[in-house]
Amino acid sequence: MLTLRPAALAANARRARALAGDARVYAMVKANAYGHGTALALSALSPYVDGFGVAVLDEARTLRSLGCTAPVMLLEGPFDADELSEAGALGLELVVHSLWQLELLAARAGTTPLVVWLKCDTGMHRIGVPPAACAGALSRLSRLPGVTVAGLMTHFACADERDDPLSATQLAALKTLAAQHDLPFTAANSAALCRYPDSHGALVRPGIMLYGSAPLAGQALADQGLMVTQRLAARLIAINTIPAGDSVGYGASWTAQRPSRIGVVAIGYGDGYPRHAPAGTPVAVGGARTGLAGRVSMDMLTIDLTDLPRAVVGDEVELWGDTVSVDEVAAACGTISYELFCQVTARVERRVARP
Ligand SMILES: *Cc1c(COP(=O)(O)O)cnc(C)c1O
Repeated sequence: MLTLRPAALAANARRARALAGDARVYAMVKANAYGHGTALALSALSPYVDGFGVAVLDEARTLRSLGCTAPVMLLEGPFDADELSEAGALGLELVVHSLWQLELLAARAGTTPLVVWLKCDTGMHRIGVPPAACAGALSRLSRLPGVTVAGLMTHFACADERDDPLSATQLAALKTLAAQHDLPFTAANSAALCRYPDSHGALVRPGIMLYGSAPLAGQALADQGLMVTQRLAARLIAINTIPAGDSVGYGASWTAQRPSRIGVVAIGYGDGYPRHAPAGTPVAVGGARTGLAGRVSMDMLTIDLTDLPRAVVGDEVELWGDTVSVDEVAAACGTISYELFCQVTARVERRVARP
C-alpha cells in the first residue's frame, strides 16, 4: 500500500513558496509527479505555485487534460515539428536547449505565440547552448515571429552535494549572460532553492523537496521544514523461526548468526522495492526498526524479527515513510529517493490520506 498525503504536498509547496521570496515557483511534476500521481499533485500543489514543469509533451498533455490552465514549462522542449505545433496549441513554455530546436522554431508554419526559455550549458554538460553561442541564439529567437524569450535557464550539477564548488561557477556564468542580455533567469532546483538565495532569479523549479525527501545530502527532512508525502507499507504474511547457521532466501546469501525469527513481507521488486537493497536495509514494524534479512524477491522480502518478538502475521511493515525515511533506504541501496519514488509499480495499491 502506498499512502499519499496531499496535505503534506501542500505544506511542502508552502515551504517552497516561502523560501522563494519574490521568485515565481514552478513545481516539477515530471515522471507522474515523482511517482505521486499527476492529478493528486496538481490539486495539492496548485494553490501555492505559479506553474508546473514536465519533461516531455505527453506529461504536459496530461496536465492540460486535468484542467490545468497554469503555465507549464516543457523542460526538454519539443522533439520535432509535430510536438512543436502541439506545444504551441497547449500554450506551453518551451525550453530551447539546442541549436537544432532553434531550426525547428525557425521552420514552423504560423505565428501562434510561443514563450521560450533558452537553456544555457553553464557546466553540467547535459543539455543547453554553450555560453558563447547564447548571444547568437537569442538574436535568432528575437527575429522569429510570435516568439517571446522569457529568460535564460540553467541546471545545477551539484547543488545537493555538501562540497559544491560548481554551483557558484554555474550561477556566475548564467548571471553574466542574463546581465548582458537584460533577461530574467531561472536556475534553482530544490537544493539551490533551500541553499542559495542568490540563485532564485525570476523563477525557481523545486521538485524533490515537494515530495518529502531531503534536498541536501545528509540532511533530515525536518531540518528544512518539510513533511513526508508518501508511505510505502505491506503486510507480514509469514513468520519462520530458524536455527543459527541456516540461511534465508535466494542464493542463501544471508545466514542466521543466532536462532532467528524471520518475517516475510508481501512486497518485492515486482512492486518497485529495489532488488539490490542489501541485508540490513531498514524497515519498521509498529514504529520499531529492524532490517532486511536475505535477498529481495519479486513478490516478497524477508526481515529479521528476532528483536521484535511482538510482531505477528498481519502486522504492517513500513518500507519507507515516517519511521524509516526514503532517504535512508536510498542511501542503503546506493541510489536516491527520486529513483525509489519513480519505481513503485502499478501493482501497489494507492490510498490518499485524508488531512
Ligand atoms: C527535475 C528538475 C528540477 C527539479 O529538481 P529537484 O532536484 O527535484 O528539485 C529542476 N529543473 C529541471 C530542469 C529539472 O529537470
